[in-house]
Amino acid sequence: MLSKWRQWRAARFDARHPFPQAEWQRACKRLPLLAALNDDERQRLGQRTWRLLHRKRLTLPDGLEFDLSDRLSLLAQAGLLTLGWSEADAEEAFAGIHEIVVLPDAFRRRVEEMDEAGVMHEYTDERVGETWHQGPVVLSLADVRDSGDWTGFNVIIHELSHKLDMDNSLDADGFPPLSSDIAGREWYQTFMAVWNDLQAHLERGEPTPIDDYAATHPGECFAVCCELFFSAPDVLNEAYPALYALLRRYFRQDPLTRMRAYQSA
Ligand SMILES: [Zn+2]
Repeated sequence: MLSKWRQWRAARFDARHPFPQAEWQRACKRLPLLAALNDDERQRLGQRTWRLLHRKRLTLPDGLEFDLSDRLSLLAQAGLLTLGWSEADAEEAFAGIHEIVVLPDAFRRRVEEMDEAGVMHEYTDERVGETWHQGPVVLSLADVRDSGDWTGFNVIIHELSHKLDMDNSLDADGFPPLSSDIAGREWYQTFMAVWNDLQAHLERGEPTPIDDYAATHPGECFAVCCELFFSAPDVLNEAYPALYALLRRYFRQDPLTRMRAYQSA
């Protein structure tokens, strides 16, 4: 019954909101991550992105020119995370997101922190994006513009992966809800091996195989690995093949094959 209802709802949506084919093609052509998709994936992602655009509020800086293909490009990178999942699972995964806010530039906030001796420390913290449980996803425009290619940097994927992580807890703890074919123990052990390796590199004063921001918190380890999985899968697979293989099962996608096909085309 549920899937009948879904079909009916999708048909009604399509009738009311004809899919913007030209703008979607333009979005795909512009971003290497989207250009690399095969026809089937591109069509599915396009439809889902179009629905996301109507379900989530997108708040932009005043006066910014951000046309439909810009909006599709941004939300498609969010949709890419759940592209391998069923329609229902994909919708469920982002159910906690109501708003995406794009700010004009990297933003700062004042942080006050009490240390163990009871001394209050104040500092300014600069972040490119920040995600709170139940709160909006906040992104800086400059970083949105830097996202979308195969460099390993993608603020949209990074922040949205925190949201996936928070689907089963208030904090981003690096432990998102898993499907039944991945055991929690396997997840924990695979990520712990990466975490321990990063810490060992830092203790020896050596450069880490992936961005050392992953070594700051288990939630950041997950987000940085997701970012690499989709936007520099060769780097992640080279550094931590077991983790790449685990994420391939988790996301039900293989960006490494996709990237190689794209680069050899
Ligand atoms: Zn983060």
